[in-house]
Amino acid sequence: MDERILAHPRTPTVEPKTARCAGCRLEYPRREMVYLHEETHDNLTFFNGERVCKPCARRYGVSH
Ligand SMILES: [Zn+2]
Repeated sequence: MDERILAHPRTPTVEPKTARCAGCRLEYPRREMVYLHEETHDNLTFFNGERVCKPCARRYGVSH
């Protein structure tokens, strides 16, 4: 789904455009991050539903 189509002036809640990486704790644009769920990671470093930046995804072996 394209976020630009959903963006509308009358939309009451605006999602933050950035999210904090679960690995390095830095903020990155959400679209550049890897969303973690059961199929993308099988280690105990992260929890399902967290996001990591791509360098961390590589570092921790998260597939995307
Ligand atoms: Zn990171």
